Amino acid sequence: MNTEHKKAIIVGAGPAGMAAGVYSVRAGIKTVVIEKFFAGGSMLLTEKIDNYPGFPDGVSGYDLAEKMKNQYLRFGGEILQGDVEEVVFEADCKTARMKDGREEKAGALIIASGSARKKLGIEGEDEYTGKGVSFCAVCDGAFFKGKKIAVIGGGDSALEEAIYLTRYADICYLIHRRDEFRASACLQEELRKHASVRTVLSAVPEKIEGDGKIVKRIILKQKTTGEMLMLEVDGVFISIGQKPNVEFIQGKVEQNPAGYIVTDYKMETSEKGVFACGDVIKKTLYQVVTACGEGATAAASAEKFLSAV
Ligand code: NAP
Repeated sequence: MNTEHKKAIIVGAGPAGMAAGVYSVRAGIKTVVIEKFFAGGSMLLTEKIDNYPGFPDGVSGYDLAEKMKNQYLRFGGEILQGDVEEVVFEADCKTARMKDGREEKAGALIIASGSARKKLGIEGEDEYTGKGVSFCAVCDGAFFKGKKIAVIGGGDSALEEAIYLTRYADICYLIHRRDEFRASACLQEELRKHASVRTVLSAVPEKIEGDGKIVKRIILKQKTTGEMLMLEVDGVFISIGQKPNVEFIQGKVEQNPAGYIVTDYKMETSEKGVFACGDVIKKTLYQVVTACGEGATAAASAEKFLSAV
């Protein structure tokens, strides 16, 4: 038996990774979570979570992240700050290599690396990121008190961001490329209560312009007429969905064409001893509550795998 027996590495300290961690340490497995930034994942970008059971008045993303982390630590779990850039799979040992050269080895690996926000890929987006272009309303909203802003997207995130930003901005244009939103009915209903949100539908962002220092306007193309539309804004919040954080996987487990990891109902990937959970996997519902359930399942499957080795 080698030293990696009965040890698991979890990549990512979002809700999936933290739930996996709690189940793993409680099963008597030495568990190390490797996290690039701070424990919490995309919960940290959410001001209030209203659909996680057990919090009748909702809970801030930050508070829920802290509670999950502390629960994992209470059972003796370990969190390492590190950026995993490569994984190596051998039959009885999985290695996670970090950018600074450190390595962790274990008998099982649980990938819970989540997803990151997508970019529009238009002119001005990169140039003005941090100078008016933002991917996080909770992080940057307060800079736009009394200003005019645009939010791009038509999903749950975009509507949540637009609603959140009404507390700061005087005018919030919600720009969506189709004529109907993808977001849930309850968020659309909530949006209608905010008079400062002006929806601009069937409009495709073409360009973000500024004075070299800060954003000044966004140029849109109306899909129905082909006309160009210019909106004077001080900020542009881009909220057009996510892409999985899988760079370090380098095709070593099966992924779908969009890059999401394919798992079975036990959260097993195509590689024995490697499990995945949360927003990094292909599934139908991307929520904190589903991430936690998958994390628990992944840890239980990892425990079974390690016991059988
Ligand atoms: P999403 O549901 O994939 O929505 C992305 C939106 O961006 C869509 O409206 C899409 O337009 C638009 N879009 C994509 N690429 C674009 C482009 N290049 N230019 C312009 N618009 C573009 O992503 P999300 O809102 O980030 O949500 C991700 C997941 O998390 C979803 O499953 C969501 O339900 C969940 N979530 C839930 C909550 C909650 O329950 N409170 C909160 C946040 C997120 P089309 O509609 O035309 O495709």
